Amino acid sequence: MIPGLIPQKDGSFAISIELPEGKISASILRVLTKLAEEGAFVHPTTAQKIMILGLSENKARQALQALEACGARIRKSGRSLQPRTCVGLPYCKLALQETFPLAQAIYEAFPEEELPHKFKIGVSGCPACCSWANVLDLGFVGVRDGFKVYIGGKGGYRPKEGLFLTKVHTTEEALSLTRKILDLFKARGQKKKRFHTVISRMTPEELRKTLGLNTT
Ligand code: SF4
Repeated sequence: MIPGLIPQKDGSFAISIELPEGKISASILRVLTKLAEEGAFVHPTTAQKIMILGLSENKARQALQALEACGARIRKSGRSLQPRTCVGLPYCKLALQETFPLAQAIYEAFPEEELPHKFKIGVSGCPACCSWANVLDLGFVGVRDGFKVYIGGKGGYRPKEGLFLTKVHTTEEALSLTRKILDLFKARGQKKKRFHTVISRMTPEELRKTLGLNTT
């Protein structure tokens, strides 16, 4: 199987484009336009990706080549961590922080993480949390002097609000904390159990100590 081609139940193939900045270049749009004109179903997903559905194997190979040639980041494993993000500064009048640089930095810093289960990250430009950053496994929520960090949130059958952990003021701090959180999930997580189950078994003091945060 060619990495990047996703077999579908009906025998067709799909391709998923990751959009860490939520931005689509003109050259990628031209390829998508052509595919749509030829009958493909171009679907923007709720996880901030573009899925191209309904491709024959041959068509999918050609599409993959054309998309990669114009710089599209094709999802080739479940191990990359593409945050979902709102537009933030300077595009939203309520925004307190830029969102795209942090989302991009996280995407670049953690390209291949072997985790026990899915792990969703969000970046929001203000506490309105249009990207659901406060209900994901890890969320950065813009405030005046940085980002509030929430962990252990999830949707699904039994949704959970994220737990406020701390505040970070720089991208470096955000990446360093993300590394520790991912390592905690790797060390204590269980297959098919979200990160919430890890932190629900820890006291707040133990959690903060494990993540190298101030416990006073
Ligand atoms: S979360 Fe805040 S900054 Fe982001 S789009 Fe919503 S209102 Fe704007």
